[in-house]
Amino acid sequence: NTTLDKILWRKSLQLRDRQEYWEASVEGRRMVESRRSLPAFKQRDSVLTAISKNQVIVISGETGCGKTTQIPQFILESEIDANRGALCSIICTQPRRISAMSVSERVAYERGEQLGESVGYKVRLEGVRGRDTRLLFCTTGILLRRLLVDRNLRGVTHVIVDEIHERGMNEDFLLIILKDLLSRRPELKLILMSATLDAELFSSYFCGASVIHIPGFTYPVRSHFLEDILEMTRYRLTPYNQIDDYGQERTWKMHKQIPKKRKSQIAFVVEDALRAADFKEFSTETQESLSCWNPDCIGFNLIEFLLWHICENEGPGGILVFMTGWDDISSLKEKLQIHPIFGNPDRIMLLACHGSMASFEQRLIFEEPASGVRKIILATNIAETSITINDVAFVIDCGKAKETSYDALNNTPCLLPSWISKVSAQQRRGRAGRVRPGQCYHLYPKCVYDAFAEYQLPEILRTPLQSLCLQIKSLNLGSISEFLLRALQSPELLAVQKAIEYLKIIGALDENEYLTTLGRYLSKLPMEPKLGKMLILGAILGCLDPILTVVAGLSVRDPFLTPQDKKDLADAAKFQFSRDHSDHLALVRAYEGWKKAEEESAVYDYCWKNFLSIQSMRAIDSLRKEFFSLLKDTGLIDGNPSICNSEGNDANLTRAVICYGMYPGICSVVHNDRSFSLKTMEDGQVLLYSNSVNARERKIPYPWLVFNEKIKVNSVFLRDSTAVSDSTLILFGGSISKGDIDGHLKMLGGYLEFFMKPVVAEICQTLKKELAELIQN
Ligand code: ADP
Ligand code: MG
Repeated sequence: NTTLDKILWRKSLQLRDRQEYWEASVEGRRMVESRRSLPAFKQRDSVLTAISKNQVIVISGETGCGKTTQIPQFILESEIDANRGALCSIICTQPRRISAMSVSERVAYERGEQLGESVGYKVRLEGVRGRDTRLLFCTTGILLRRLLVDRNLRGVTHVIVDEIHERGMNEDFLLIILKDLLSRRPELKLILMSATLDAELFSSYFCGASVIHIPGFTYPVRSHFLEDILEMTRYRLTPYNQIDDYGQERTWKMHKQIPKKRKSQIAFVVEDALRAADFKEFSTETQESLSCWNPDCIGFNLIEFLLWHICENEGPGGILVFMTGWDDISSLKEKLQIHPIFGNPDRIMLLACHGSMASFEQRLIFEEPASGVRKIILATNIAETSITINDVAFVIDCGKAKETSYDALNNTPCLLPSWISKVSAQQRRGRAGRVRPGQCYHLYPKCVYDAFAEYQLPEILRTPLQSLCLQIKSLNLGSISEFLLRALQSPELLAVQKAIEYLKIIGALDENEYLTTLGRYLSKLPMEPKLGKMLILGAILGCLDPILTVVAGLSVRDPFLTPQDKKDLADAAKFQFSRDHSDHLALVRAYEGWKKAEEESAVYDYCWKNFLSIQSMRAIDSLRKEFFSLLKDTGLIDGNPSICNSEGNDANLTRAVICYGMYPGICSVVHNDRSFSLKTMEDGQVLLYSNSVNARERKIPYPWLVFNEKIKVNSVFLRDSTAVSDSTLILFGGSISKGDIDGHLKMLGGYLEFFMKPVVAEICQTLKKELAELIQN
């Protein structure tokens, strides 16, 4: 088409003129200068030559050397220089939405443009791009979604996959698809970028793709572990045994009342935390024993002490604090804001850096503070490699991390904090040495560090594969197990088979491994299928509100606290919320109370009285909103909360939905004279966790318990459980028959008909089939 060619040619010339004009301007020249000072610039020509000669290249380089902001621009500029500007289309993926947004903004700025001209971004629910956008930053999930409708990525000339060293599930998944695509699209270029040196792995996966390394430089950083920090507090220690999440609140309150004793208070807490963890024993223990060491219990007080210590005794330089998640960050920020030193904007520039921050906040992170003002940034592991803050000289590292991004195609985001690897700890430490020699404070003993895993296992090898299997099916990629064999590191066959079997049991896949209607909806929800199932049915049956609380509650750290010395009191407090033989419904009540307390600005008292973790309750509150908007995305609900909640007060209906999600996590209740015992099909006798509300009952007036999770210690223990009746189980769980059920079925059959909307017609069908079979037998 010659007219089209002409238009494209003219556009390409315009782009070139615009670029030359910018580079000749005063600001443009200054920008070019500062870009030239980045290590990546020295490799510009070799990168461009390698790209022109190869279909796939791998680029590795120290964080902050300019991979993310520069490499995509080098490609764009060289295309524009060659008058192909209007013909190229470069996609650069980021594991997190926040980096896609902030990087695109930065790159547009470096090019003297507004976002949406030649540079744009697209993340779930948001995006800025125009008709002439040539360089698009997006999340990995967005590119996967595009592949759903456009499997050959028509028109795309370059795909850049950034941060591949993180080995997220989505990135590994994308690489398999791209590898297949390369042969169908021989002119498509693939560029992989990594912050670590293990580029060989990726290179050999792509049949010896060429590797370019960008050398960098960092200053030495001194490490302090918890024992050194303890030494630093240098105050006499007295026993004080309140060392958990809960104690944290209390010590905070105490030092508000007696500020003079503050430092020694901190010392108590550190000492106790060390004693509680019995850390001297750790060196010989395995990774598993680390789970009883909880840095959160010392977190806030100790961080506050260190901040104070650095401000009083150390030279200039920003402080970067790595925390587990945004809920911890916002709690700490709130506390620091009312502090005489840290809350004073003339002395401290206090910022947060996490996945859900607003973009004006993002910009502040890169801003230089006024002289005499120190920057303090509370960050999640996002600041480990994806965002580089230049003027940091001190790092405080809590040693744990959790994933906080929910892109619609993300698989099972792991919301529970877990230990980082040695590589991550070193990476965090390295952040302190970019501008001058720095210091790093680790909030855990050296022996705990020694027990860290060398590397984080790739997500595909460590998380359940159910969601990934659903993605493979929804993208029509054929047999699940054959597809996964082609991964960079393929998961064990047994794990794959288990996942497929599970998906069949819960009705997401049919006998022949095809996606069912339910499966299709589940593939759009970025959480474990069982949680997705609950949300879907909760919305359909009109009890979404309590179900949102249950699902959010299952995604965070248990909000019900059990301090060692107050176990009975704490369990009793939880029991107060129980009326229905259900831990899940107890949480729903606790949350309702919290909401009310929030309106009355009494959350601290409420949580204190009821042994609830403020952080967890806050996290639940915000996750509920997140999940609601995800559901809206799937098109299942139209955003009017009252419609999906007409039956929100019906505890039995909520119970049924919980059963629908938990199945096949089920055990039968066998009563004897005094008490009852529990049995599952696989384990025989099982026990309840002592803080379960059902553990305090003598009798359970239901024949079954459904549960989310079982943990094998010496015996098998069930975490949270909910009691359900025969009929609930048969209608909402699966085909387990017990006793005479014909009567129930007739009654409940009508009930189901009444509530079911077309969307669950299929679920209804299977249920009916099962019922029919049951009646026949
Ligand atoms: P890499 O991807 O190799 O880790 P980046 O391309 O992200 O490195 O960053 C290169 C440099 O640009 C770093 O020094 C970083 O501090 C700076 N930078 C990145 N984003 C911004 C921004 N929004 N504002 C100011 N400086 C930034
Ligand atoms: Mg980067």
